Amino acid sequence: MNPAPKPPPPADHTAVIELLDQVIAHTVAPAAVTVDREGSFPSASVQVLAQAGLGGLLMPPSLGGRGASTATYAEALARIAAACGSTSTVYMTQMHCAHPIHLQGRPDQYEAWIPTICRGTAIGAIALTEPEAGSDVATMRTTARRDGDSYVINGEKTFISNGDVADVIVLFATVDPGLGKDGITAFLIDTAHVAGLTAGRPMKKLGQKGASTVTLGFQDCRIPVTARLGAEGDGYPLLLRSVSKSRISAAAQGIGFAQGAFDATVRYCAERDLLSSRTREAQDLQFALARLRAEIAAGRSMLREVCDLVDGSEEDPTAEVAMVKMHCTTLGVRVASACAELLGEDGDRDDIGAERRLRDAKITEIYDGTNQVQSMLVARDIRLSVTR
Ligand SMILES: Cc1cc2nc3c(=O)[nH]c(=O)nc-3n(C[C@H](O)[C@H](O)[C@H](O)COP(=O)(O)OP(=O)(O)OC[C@H]3O[C@@H](n4cnc5c(N)ncnc54)[C@H](O)[C@@H]3O)c2cc1C
Repeated sequence: MNPAPKPPPPADHTAVIELLDQVIAHTVAPAAVTVDREGSFPSASVQVLAQAGLGGLLMPPSLGGRGASTATYAEALARIAAACGSTSTVYMTQMHCAHPIHLQGRPDQYEAWIPTICRGTAIGAIALTEPEAGSDVATMRTTARRDGDSYVINGEKTFISNGDVADVIVLFATVDPGLGKDGITAFLIDTAHVAGLTAGRPMKKLGQKGASTVTLGFQDCRIPVTARLGAEGDGYPLLLRSVSKSRISAAAQGIGFAQGAFDATVRYCAERDLLSSRTREAQDLQFALARLRAEIAAGRSMLREVCDLVDGSEEDPTAEVAMVKMHCTTLGVRVASACAELLGEDGDRDDIGAERRLRDAKITEIYDGTNQVQSMLVARDIRLSVTR
């Protein structure tokens, strides 16, 4: 029996990807090596993407977005990552900030921030991680104490992407540390109108050097009650939905870094006539590239399938998201490393392309929940499915 033909992706998918490829070729890719070498924030690349109408793919058109599917967003992010890792992290952090505002904000909150994030006129950040609370976010210690019509925030967040350049921060804090995860509450911090917020210097990192990552200090930082996102104690479920999308982002970056390293290696080999040569050595190289290409294609299919599952489910499919995060981020590191090896000593050069993607890829295995934590989520799901 012939399988039913697969429906084509929605029309806007093709339009988005074609436009994106033009912006990448014109602006994002040419700037990538300099962004990496100088560790400079990729403002121009992020602005050009936003001005082309690609800044808020997942947000509804009424708020300046595109209403695209998760699969379209993931493919777009993978392509940006393939060109410039730093730009991809700033770009996805914009979405990680807009998403919880859209999920749980009041109309005045999402109307104030989401269109500006989509246009790139506002930079967003999301602040969960603390020095003593990473994987186990329920133990967070940053407090939000109610005082009349205000909350007073005290505490420290760390490893916050875009933190020093953000106009708006989605902050997760606890209204009562004794309540554990039931005390976690989300707030919108308008950085231009708040006192007591300080950002550390951008950290020196292995990769994604242009994407700034900082600590944030909150000292008696007073914000109005109206800055709360949802009700007190609603933060934990929001946080779980937020990290589900950010894990898809990390997986997409994994595919992008694998693809970027692969493309750079193929270009290098083509320039040296190694792709058509029939010598034994050249054939070994061609077969190695063929296997890497198959691995990237398989990872991309898995990512698309999980994205479709996310869009088609009422609840986020935690185990499937964990599996694709784990699989695609590991794939990114493995493929980039294999490409660097195939290039011999040139694999160490920063102007060929594999070296940068290898450095950019490593952190995807760690952030947005380490891959050990993803394994734990998958293992828990296996246990549950046996006992059900
Ligand atoms: C470049 C970069 C950008 C980031 N951007 C942001 C951001 O924008 N916003 C934000 O809030 N955070 C951000 N983070 C933080 C990131 O998400 C966390 O670092 C990550 O989730 C891991 O938390 P942790 O570092 O506290 O590790 P820990 O939780 O301290 O874990 C340390 C080690 O213990 C292991 N471990 C922990 N718990 C378990 C367990 N139960 N079972 C098995 N092993 C376990 C982990 O796998 C890891 O190997 C960023 C981090 C980096 C490096």
